[in-house]
Amino acid sequence: MQNKKILVVEDEASIRDMLRFALERAEFQVSVAQDVPSGRLRIAEARPDLILLDWMLPGVSGVEYARELKSGATTKDIPIIMVTARAEEEDTVRGLNIGCDDYIAKPFSFPELIARAQAVLRRSLPGGEEERMAVAGLQIDAASQRVTAQGEPVRLGPTEYRLLHFFMSHPERVYTREQVLDRVWGQNVYVEERTVDVHIRRLRKALQPYGYDNMIQTVRGTGYRFSEKI
Ligand code: CA
Repeated sequence: MQNKKILVVEDEASIRDMLRFALERAEFQVSVAQDVPSGRLRIAEARPDLILLDWMLPGVSGVEYARELKSGATTKDIPIIMVTARAEEEDTVRGLNIGCDDYIAKPFSFPELIARAQAVLRRSLPGGEEERMAVAGLQIDAASQRVTAQGEPVRLGPTEYRLLHFFMSHPERVYTREQVLDRVWGQNVYVEERTVDVHIRRLRKALQPYGYDNMIQTVRGTGYRFSEKI
């Protein structure tokens, strides 16, 4: 992760300075911009590995800028973490399906921010994914696309594999069916939300013999969460 370049686009000077300080302490190279035009200049000077983008910016909003970046041939692969003012707004912005890689709501802790930034950067590494993840004896290896439970191979269909990979990369967070569809099936793919339930059932069934099925948790009225905690 060392020397990865992060561009912070944030109009509030105090927050911008704090972010720069925290990120530099975590050994990132940091450049800052107070609005979208200066963000464009920074990117033209040096392509960042990650952009931390404030939603509420004067002039061009963070949402509009994220759309611009995600539709630009040279910028579409730069991961974006959108910073929103409140958790409720995170849902609103997420619902716009801009294609951001993660979202974080103010106020956030710096360890949380650094962890999110590192996770997004790992996922954007050449090869695309975090190579290997393990939770309590359940292991997924992205290079070989193999899943093992206590060392025993688990057979999964391609969709169940992608679901499990998504959940293991995003533990302890609740996702709605719509969000799961966007992230696992991809945006602009028309699939009914209950399709998610079908594949969740298959995934649980495959994990059940090893006792991992209850890590895929239903959150009533909302969606699903991956958690070790029962
Ligand atoms: Ca702002």
